[in-house]
Amino acid sequence: MRKLVAGNWKMYGLASSLAEIEALKGLTGEAACDIVVCPPFTLLEKAAERAKDSTVAIGAQDCHRQISDAYTGDVSAEMLVDPGARFVILGHSERRVFHHETDAMVATKVTAARTAGLTAIICVGETRSERGDGKAIEVVGAQLRASVPAGASSSNLVIAYEPVWAIGTGLVPTIEQIEEIHSSIRQRLEELGEDRRNVRIPYGGSVKASNAAAIFGAENVDGALVGGASLKATEFAGIISAAA
Ligand code: PGA
Repeated sequence: MRKLVAGNWKMYGLASSLAEIEALKGLTGEAACDIVVCPPFTLLEKAAERAKDSTVAIGAQDCHRQISDAYTGDVSAEMLVDPGARFVILGHSERRVFHHETDAMVATKVTAARTAGLTAIICVGETRSERGDGKAIEVVGAQLRASVPAGASSSNLVIAYEPVWAIGTGLVPTIEQIEEIHSSIRQRLEELGEDRRNVRIPYGGSVKASNAAAIFGAENVDGALVGGASLKATEFAGIISAAA
């Protein structure tokens, strides 16, 4: 399966950061994987302009569950398509924790994203204590069941496994732990329907150029969702080249 490497800029980035996209284009050329950069809402349009005519696609980091209505301060999926986004990250653990997003809320956002023509990158993953309690597979399975709506398929859905304890910490699960969860996700997706068999399952959490090749070598790992290391074009390009 062609891998997908997506960079999540989180709440980092001003107009000056767009030079990273320019640099990335120069470093990656005809990459052997799909590349997505997800800047904050404010940079979407300019990021899409910079990425034009390149292999870099642009994504957002959240959307509202409604197509349009009176929601002050919110941004709909359609509003993301307008400036040029093709992907949207949904249910990131930082949204689940700081904005109290539930699986049910994530599922409605995924439907809104699909309706607008976006591919949703749903994030799932256990906390450190859930892993300590031996519940990682169970937690991820429950998130998956409740946050993937009917109608989602490999053409509009990506599932990122992001153990919460690995995000921004420098900690990474062992390859065996990654393979165990990814194969459980693959199995559940197959149970959810034939059209989900080919959904890509990138790994996320402290991915760097130096550990990317080992992670990509793991079974059922179809790419990476990268936070900190996506902010520097050279480091991000190193991850992308490991996905070849
Ligand atoms: P990290 O973040 O690569 O900085 O650990 C990953 C993410 O939050 O998607």
